[in-house]
Amino acid sequence: MKTKMKKVIFIGGTSYSGSTFFDMILANDPRGFSCGEVHALFNPYRPHHINPLCGCADNRCQVWSRALKNGKKNLYSTIFKLFPEVRFIVDSSKNVFWIKSQTKHLLRNGIECRNVLIWKSPLELACSFRKRNQIGWEKEWLVYHRLYFKAVESWKAIRYRDFTMNKEVLKNVCAYLAIPYFPGKENYWEKKHHTLFGNASAKIHLYKKDSVGYKREGETFGKILGRSHSNIEETHKSIYYKPVDDQSLEDSVTQKIRLNIHLSEIMKLLNYRDISDRSSDGHTVEISKLRMPLILFKMRAGKGLFIRWLKKYKYRIMRYLKTT
Ligand SMILES: [Zn+2]
Repeated sequence: MKTKMKKVIFIGGTSYSGSTFFDMILANDPRGFSCGEVHALFNPYRPHHINPLCGCADNRCQVWSRALKNGKKNLYSTIFKLFPEVRFIVDSSKNVFWIKSQTKHLLRNGIECRNVLIWKSPLELACSFRKRNQIGWEKEWLVYHRLYFKAVESWKAIRYRDFTMNKEVLKNVCAYLAIPYFPGKENYWEKKHHTLFGNASAKIHLYKKDSVGYKREGETFGKILGRSHSNIEETHKSIYYKPVDDQSLEDSVTQKIRLNIHLSEIMKLLNYRDISDRSSDGHTVEISKLRMPLILFKMRAGKGLFIRWLKKYKYRIMRYLKTT
């Protein structure tokens, strides 16, 4: 397959949708580059976003300090310059306002953009939230998808479960994104990634057991999910899908779906937009009804901008103090 033209692939998805591992699998190619959740480098909103450690776990790595210095508008051109062999960059920042503004800038500069959305069903997402003792999966699922439908024009969806269980799906994803596929591409730990931030349970596979990176991600992963050390070791460097086995959670999610039509309508639409074109049911769903209304979209954009602005300066000051 030809990959002459440079392109940026934006991954969309709610929190805990599997975007970090999806990002690194797509970028597992000598011509690919995984950015991870790079928007947080420019808009830090958590303490660990200042002076971050690169996914390559090398303290001397200069990739992100250079990218930061050159600014967000030059982010992808900085990467293309630093890595001349790279033809496509995968960005799993997921933030819809980031995707929208970066796409606008890239298209103006003649760089192709592609969009793919990875999703978990309401039950799977509710389970991921429960594991982390978090509430609010329903709001996250509804708001994120409605914002995404408003912000992103052309996209295809991929269900997390299908992607982890069926290797053929990766082939279809590569064909849609017009990037090369090869057997074994899913073993993303075979490549050195500079991926920034993202999910510890996906990043732990990058590191050898007993390395600093493995220990760091394992501590985060174990602490958050309550996973034991042997459990983490067993699944190291493997891709697996764990079905939800919790009847009370299933009952509560089914009840919520019954009460909120938007949940099932979004699910139909995501199936309809699936990369493998497996369902025709969603054509009855009007996407315009599911898109976040413009006024609410702008309000969220404004609120997000204000919060990002506040946090950006707070963390910039922290970054400055740390380096002086
Ligand atoms: Zn690095």
